[in-house]
Formats: sequence, structure tokens, C-alpha cells
Amino acid sequence: MSKALKPGAVIGILGGGQLGRMLALAAARLGFRCHIYEPGAEPPAGQVSWQVTTAPYEDAEAVAAFARSVDIVTYEFENIPTAALDLIETICPVRPGRAALAASQDRILEKDFLTGLGLQTAPFAAVDSVGDLEAAIARIGAPAILKTRRFGYDGKGQVRLNAPDQAASAWETINGAPSVLEGFVEFSAEISVIGARAPDGAVVCYDPGQNVHVDGILHTTTVPATLTLGQRTDAVILTGRIMNALDYVGVLGVELFVTPKGLIVNEIAPRVHNSGHWTQDACIIDQFEQHIRAIAGWPLGDGRRHSDVVMTNLIGEQVAGVRDLAADPACGLHLYGKAEARAGRKMGHVNRITGPAR
Ligand code: AMP
Repeated sequence: MSKALKPGAVIGILGGGQLGRMLALAAARLGFRCHIYEPGAEPPAGQVSWQVTTAPYEDAEAVAAFARSVDIVTYEFENIPTAALDLIETICPVRPGRAALAASQDRILEKDFLTGLGLQTAPFAAVDSVGDLEAAIARIGAPAILKTRRFGYDGKGQVRLNAPDQAASAWETINGAPSVLEGFVEFSAEISVIGARAPDGAVVCYDPGQNVHVDGILHTTTVPATLTLGQRTDAVILTGRIMNALDYVGVLGVELFVTPKGLIVNEIAPRVHNSGHWTQDACIIDQFEQHIRAIAGWPLGDGRRHSDVVMTNLIGEQVAGVRDLAADPACGLHLYGKAEARAGRKMGHVNRITGPAR
């Protein structure tokens, strides 16, 4: 893409959840209009957008009409059906591009890509049968985690194996889906880097955040993370290398394990990321605006943090406490407009400012 989008241009977003919603809000602030494409009814992003298409990704007519109505297409999740993308690309550009989607949709391709760059991942083996699983356990050892190659998120599609004799039951739990066995990484911390890359190759990364998961779902992100300066530099440089290798345009999340042997990449997400929500209240230009700027060919923000911050997800019924949070002047409250507070459902998040940036 050579020309920058002008205010008033239309940005198409595939997926209408909270990430799409916050992208649309950021885009609106820069004068863009957003068109959401989402198969489910009443998407959270639709409440704040110019236009919404409610149709399945298999509906070629609806997908083509959507693509014709926008200047560029981006997305809030990585598992977009290939046929829909192929069709959209005949009509308008998609950012980030296909290389990033291919590398992040499949855990084996992702790990091959990362190790090809000389980065560390957990030891892994492809598993397509219970026999493969037994062989993988013999090689990698236990404890280990069996994950489906595709469509996993928030700890879903995963089962932990504590001993070799659990192979058959783990294979059953995962419904015999094409999988990967990963050695269990003994980490001292989990961190993530939210990076952005512009079409001209400029790269900006936010400070790494330290993540705590509960039941496989992100609970808090704390910034700054407890890292040495060397670890911080490593985290940022490896994120830049990943983005360069993919000729990436947009915001990318990189999840890392901190270990005595260095940083180990858990996974990459070619989109704005839950562990980057803190940027909304601790940076002038947050990850959502940064993504919109990148795909629009606008100058990137510098990623600087003005405050220390803790982001806490509000999951399910936790959203009931919002009145107290709203009364706290240190808290930036972000609710997603979801009607029903089901267990495990991300309803909103709060960014608590803990002081000026250290
Ligand atoms: P994922 O969906 O792959 O991001 O995994 C969700 C969470 O499970 C991670 O954030 C870690 O807390 C944990 N986890 C995943 N893979 C591993 C691993 N190989 N070793 C240790 N913990 C892991």
C-alpha cells in the first residue's frame, strides 16, 4: 500500500468482538468509518461502528459486498476462513498480510517459523494419532501440554499430561484433533510485547507487560514487568525480527516465557492483544490507534508509556463490581457492551494507574 488513507476512508474489520469494538473506537477518533463483518448477531463492535454486515464467512456475495464497501480490511482474530480472505484480496488489501496469518493459525507452522528465525520455543512434536503421542512423550517427557494445532484460544483445546500413561485419555479429551505436544516450560514469568510495524518498515514496541493467567485466561497485565534491561531488550528485538520476517503491517502480540535459558516464545497473535489493553490509559497512543495508524499508512506513535499500570480483565460476574471501579479516579474502565455475563466471558477490563512511569 503506497498511499495513506484519508480521514473519512472506510476500514473493514473481520470479527465484531471487543477487539473489533476498540479498534473501531480508535479508528473513529481519527475520522475513519468502520464496517464490521461478523456472523453472530449484535456484535459488540457493531454498537460503535458505521456499518455492520451479519453473515457467515461462507457467504461469498456478502463477503464481496463488504470488501467493495471498504478501503482496506483488517481483522480481530486469526482464524478467518481462507476462501473469504482469497475473495477479499481480489477486491481490496488485507492488513496484516497472509504470511502472518499462515504463521499464527497453526501451532506447528508457527513454531517452525520461529525456530527458523533462531528463536527458542518449547520442545514440540506434531501429533496425529495416539501412537504419535506416545512417541512424542517418550522424546519430550512429562509434564507436557497437548494443544490442538488450530483454533485454540484462552487455554481452550489444551490438555496437560503429567505422566506418560495419560496419553490415551489426553488424546480422547482433545477429540483426536491434529495436535502438537509441547514440553512444559518452567518459567519465572510470562510477558508479552505488543509491537507495531508500518508499511515502510518502521517498528515501534511498547514496554513488555507481565501476564498472570487464571484457568488459561489472562487475568492481569502489569507494566513495567520485572525484567532486567537485557531481557527487555531481547524481548523487543525479537518482536522486531518477527515483524520484519513477516513484512508485517499492523500490531502484533508476542507471548514469551522468561526462563534461565532466555526468552522462549509461546505464541504470536497477528492482531491487537488482550495483554496490550493497558496502553489505553498509560500511553498517549494505544495499541488500537497504533494498529489503525499502521494499516492506514499513518505515522506510528512512539509507544512511550507515561504511567505504570495494572490491567485486570473483568470476566463473567466480575463485571458486577464496576460501580466501585468507576468511583476510583485511578481506574480507566472499559466495558464491551455484552448483554449476558456468562462464566469465562470477557465483559470488560480496568486499567489501574499505579504511578508515573518508572
Ligand atoms: P496458550 O493458549 O498456548 O497461550 O496457553 C495458555 C497458557 O497456558 C499460557 O499463557 C501459559 O500460562 C500456559 N502454557 C501454555 N503452554 C505452555 C508450556 N509449553 N509450558 C508451560 N506453560 C504453558
